[in-house]
Amino acid sequence: MLFRPSSRKQLMTTTLEFNESMSVQEIWQVVYRSLERTLATNMVHVWVQPLEAKSIEQSAAGARVVLEASNEFAAQWIRDKYLKKIEETFEQTLGKQTIVDISVSEKPKTVPTNDRVASVIATEADLPSTPSSGLVLQAGSRAATTPPLSSSVDARYTFDNFVVGASNQFAYASCVAVAEKPGGHYNPLFLYGSPGLGKTHLLNAIGSFVLRNNPNCRVCSISAEQFVNELIESIQHKKMTQFRSKYRESYDVILIDDIQFIAGKQTSEEEFFHTFNALYHSGRQIVVTSDRPPKEINNLEERVRTRFEWGLIADIQPPEIETRIAILRAKAERDDIYLPDDVATFLASSIRTNVRELEGVLTSLKAQSSLTGLEISLEMTKQLLKMNLAVDSSQISVESIQNAVVKFFDLKLADLKSTSRAQSVALPRQIAMYLIRKYTSLGYKEIGRYFGGKDHTTIMHACSKIEKGLEENSEIAKAVEGVQNLL
Ligand code: ADP
Ligand code: MG
Repeated sequence: MLFRPSSRKQLMTTTLEFNESMSVQEIWQVVYRSLERTLATNMVHVWVQPLEAKSIEQSAAGARVVLEASNEFAAQWIRDKYLKKIEETFEQTLGKQTIVDISVSEKPKTVPTNDRVASVIATEADLPSTPSSGLVLQAGSRAATTPPLSSSVDARYTFDNFVVGASNQFAYASCVAVAEKPGGHYNPLFLYGSPGLGKTHLLNAIGSFVLRNNPNCRVCSISAEQFVNELIESIQHKKMTQFRSKYRESYDVILIDDIQFIAGKQTSEEEFFHTFNALYHSGRQIVVTSDRPPKEINNLEERVRTRFEWGLIADIQPPEIETRIAILRAKAERDDIYLPDDVATFLASSIRTNVRELEGVLTSLKAQSSLTGLEISLEMTKQLLKMNLAVDSSQISVESIQNAVVKFFDLKLADLKSTSRAQSVALPRQIAMYLIRKYTSLGYKEIGRYFGGKDHTTIMHACSKIEKGLEENSEIAKAVEGVQNLL
């Protein structure tokens, strides 16, 4: 499976239904989406989403499907908890009895490499084309008659310095595809995600790439706010003709950041609508970003929303812990910062939802280290984050952690406190111990008391196992993150 199901979902029409000619991956998309509706979202994202559909054998009487998990632990968890539901959903979809085998991937799962993304791009043929797909833009072809306009692409942002992981792989691949062939299949490209996840970075990376490939290409990169301000000024100074000719005619590629800004501003929406039409119908590439998907932008005119939905919609999710660590390492290397492994892991597990914040802490650490002449250490980092953590920790108690774990793993509190060694209870218990150690000031011995008087060495073992798991096992990392999100 080349796409994460949730991303792939964006590519499919909303009425995706089973039909006989579907591949196993496509059938799995249908089943997955149905599971998304029936199982708790947390669970689906952590455990079911990473599964890859491998094969299907069908006869009139029944079907046998192989789904692959990235490691034995995840496989066992799914067999215990979700297999029945998955089989039932296949049965409803295929209309026949289905046996599902959960196999284990032979290759360890790591942050996907650019090669893997390249293969995503190579499968363009899989994707639906937009109405304008016949008009592939010859970037810069008009350059002979019109000199290139200066464009405000931020050259610091490139594809090379963007770290790719499962959370942003689809968005990244979509942007690369657009940059390689502006005005091609994916027009417009609508990129959305929460603040600090790399939208502006990717938008400008498209611009940088296009300009490097073809310096004559006329690329415009602006924020929706700039667009609106310029529009207002043009109205005031009666320069609408110039404004229109600038945005409708003089660029080959137009990149607009934070488009949600125009929502509810009637004149801007109107102007944008006509600009969009002019650009689109002459086969020029339009890329917009937003902090939310088109259907969630309030006060956006329907006809504008519809335009966004004509093309490709790609989301960026918060990066997984491995990606966060990789981003930190990349930034540290770029800025020549010595970043010990324990600090990287600690930072990546403390700051989870915003890459900008992650970078911010790294910058502060660098400053602190050069001011004090001390090397960056775990202690220095903890000190720096203390204010944040203190606020958080004051509200986090042993009980709230235990409750979050129980909720996330769908267990009973009594099981968590029991002496059962079953993996389905032992791991959640270890995660609870780890989080209590992280968020409260309790020592190992005291933590033991909250788990039926366990020995302090058991708690120490649990903490180091989870710390190791955070780096090496993406299922554990995701589970810890899922629990933290419930705190
Ligand atoms: P957004 O526009 O989504 O709010 P930005 O594109 O401004 O976010 O990203 C915030 C910061 O984080 C930028 O400095 C950007 O370079 C960095 N960043 C975000 N995601 C990544 C990534 N995957 N790899 C490298 N840097 C990233
Ligand atoms: Mg931005």
